[in-house]
Amino acid sequence: MPERSPSTARIALNRPLRRLFDYQIPGNLELEPGQRVSIPFGRQSATGLIVETGVEPPQGITLKPVHSAYEPWPALPAETFQLLAWASDYYQHPLGECLFTALPPALRRGRPAAAKQDTWWKATAGPEALAGNSYRQRALLAWLQRHPHGASTSNLTAAGFTREQIRTLHKRELIEETEAVKPAENPNDTASTQPGPTLSPAQQAAADQIPAPGTGFSASLVYGITGSGKTELYLHYLKQQLSSSAQALVLVPEINLTPQTVARFQRYFGQRIVVWHSALNDGERLSTWLKIRHGEPVILIGTRSAVLLPFTGLKTIIVDEEHDSSYKQGEGFRYSGRDMAVYRAHLNQCPVILGSATPSLESYQNALTGKYQLIRLEERAGNASPPAINLLDIRSRPLEGGLSRPALQAIDQCLADGQQALVFVNRRGFAPVMMCFDCGHMVECPRCDTRLTYHRRDRAMRCHHCDYQTAATEHCPKCQSEAFKPVGQGTERTEDILATAFPETPVVRVDRDSTQRKGSIQGILKKVNTGEPCILVGTQMLAKGHDFPNVTLVIVVNADGGLFSVDFRAPEQLIQTLLQVSGRAGRGEKSGQVLVQTCHSDHPILKSLCRGHYLTLADQLLAERETGQFPPFRAMAIFRAEADTMEKSLALLDMIKPLARVTGIEVWGPLPALIARRADRHRAQLVLCCDNRKRLNHVLGHLCQNLDQQKLPAGVKWMIDVDPQETG
Ligand code: ADP
Ligand code: ZN
Ligand code: ZN
Repeated sequence: MPERSPSTARIALNRPLRRLFDYQIPGNLELEPGQRVSIPFGRQSATGLIVETGVEPPQGITLKPVHSAYEPWPALPAETFQLLAWASDYYQHPLGECLFTALPPALRRGRPAAAKQDTWWKATAGPEALAGNSYRQRALLAWLQRHPHGASTSNLTAAGFTREQIRTLHKRELIEETEAVKPAENPNDTASTQPGPTLSPAQQAAADQIPAPGTGFSASLVYGITGSGKTELYLHYLKQQLSSSAQALVLVPEINLTPQTVARFQRYFGQRIVVWHSALNDGERLSTWLKIRHGEPVILIGTRSAVLLPFTGLKTIIVDEEHDSSYKQGEGFRYSGRDMAVYRAHLNQCPVILGSATPSLESYQNALTGKYQLIRLEERAGNASPPAINLLDIRSRPLEGGLSRPALQAIDQCLADGQQALVFVNRRGFAPVMMCFDCGHMVECPRCDTRLTYHRRDRAMRCHHCDYQTAATEHCPKCQSEAFKPVGQGTERTEDILATAFPETPVVRVDRDSTQRKGSIQGILKKVNTGEPCILVGTQMLAKGHDFPNVTLVIVVNADGGLFSVDFRAPEQLIQTLLQVSGRAGRGEKSGQVLVQTCHSDHPILKSLCRGHYLTLADQLLAERETGQFPPFRAMAIFRAEADTMEKSLALLDMIKPLARVTGIEVWGPLPALIARRADRHRAQLVLCCDNRKRLNHVLGHLCQNLDQQKLPAGVKWMIDVDPQETG
């Protein structure tokens, strides 16, 4: 072996390239893996991350020297680096892009790793100093007067004031900067002495089974039915077991990271709670990232990408609603946040706790084989009991806007009893399609193989698969007939029907459209939180994690969508959604009822659903997966291609098929994707299955290498999806 030369470094760049770049390290620099450097690249300079030092440069090539290091410490400490390197290999994504995903945007762009100081303010005058209608500014001065130690900008924004108000008062010299108070002594910390309810015996028994932080690696699957108090369990576990100097990570699906969830954690842990989600701005990202990197003993509540942050004192990981499909990144670096959490717990030798009322079949199988410990929590907290689920066969019943008479009667009764009802519709918009009853024409997206959804509120027809939209017309665009009508159910239509049927009762719609327009789901849910009778109409968004104590009735408008899908995951996802949405009923004092409208009331899946025991259903589904040799019984990856024509996509896959078809690998396809054309790209796929994960990984790596060395026809793109969530 040649002697290693200490003066060279192998560097990763934030580019979709499956290669690294070698540079020389100048004598005055000492560099280690994970460190951020500035390097000359082409005619410009670029930000890179050191992957390795002391590499042997190729013969006869003079390497350019590294310009400088941004900071004397590695931006990615060893464990984070290892995690990302593992993920790059496992998910077949270029190392550079994986590593840079773990940096906040500012550091990717080569900005310094220093957060703007959180300025501290104190008032120099009272609210009486302000005349006129500057009501909020007076309130701010009054607030500061009540806090004699002053308060930071973030304390003030957390209390509902804006940066603009702070700036204005500062300009008018009514407030001034003052010395900061240490976090531990911050009198504005919201941690109160009012802990939540004491755990029930069942909850305590569950808590006792979770291994303490610092006892090495362990994975526990908490199967806790909806409303069993899983969140309460996590809170107590952290409060009792996490040392005050340790870091903890709590992963939640995006939609569950609501101010209510955060407030619940803050009640126990005050400012030790920090959050990480897609709505943070670059400054907030950087300052939180630095806290994590510098080992501050925070409890981070975050969405998927939080699992990539550079923790240095991580002692426990919780993944709430672990079955949620949003943990899987759908594009680019297609990692699973949940699976990386488990791997990370391995690297850290710490416990990981996966919780769900409807665990994924992957995790459940791991519990059955003893890889995970199964902890059951099968009663509801407080006095609540699980709701009764009943099927409502709608084959020969007249429907009004998708709702059957018994469903409307049940809503009527529920409202008369002073309770709230929730109506679940699986599509937003008014109707999934506009159809001409004279010529049969249905309006399709010009760029995708899909139909346009009719949105009546803004008189538009929209594609839910690309950003195409067009104005809705009164007549059939093909034959001009007036018999041009919406077909099927969307949330808007159900909202209209309910508003007409129950004119006295507020109807609250919750879907992506209504939450985007009104800003936040919290604002919309204010009505619901008053507890007054009302009807909630919504999509998936309503199914997840919310605690509505006064909802006692849940209506599922149509359960049949997932029953006959070609996707092998569809039955699992259908059951999870139905049980999660059912779980919104009867969480308070009064018991709940669920009515599921279906045309297939004898379908075995729906029949077992009524018996309501998820693990029994999961056993059945696992048996089917085993027969079909689907995951989790085999590893799966999808090789996708897209191009401006289907021929090109299929040709690429035809070319690699023989390379993929080696011993032990089963290959299906190539086949056009379920939606073959999307935003004018023609998509096809090849599915690879293998008994042995390592072998599949090896073959995928080989395919990537091979393709990287080829010149592909213009416009053709390929990507690999390991452990795919969507197989269509
Ligand atoms: P999950 O996360 O399992 O759906 P939550 O933790 O949100 O359940 O609890 C459901 C409801 O029950 C919440 O309103 C919570 O405050 C309440 N709750 C949980 N544990 C207890 C308890 N031990 N005593 C009284 N109420 C509880
Ligand atoms: Zn027509
Ligand atoms: Zn489209």
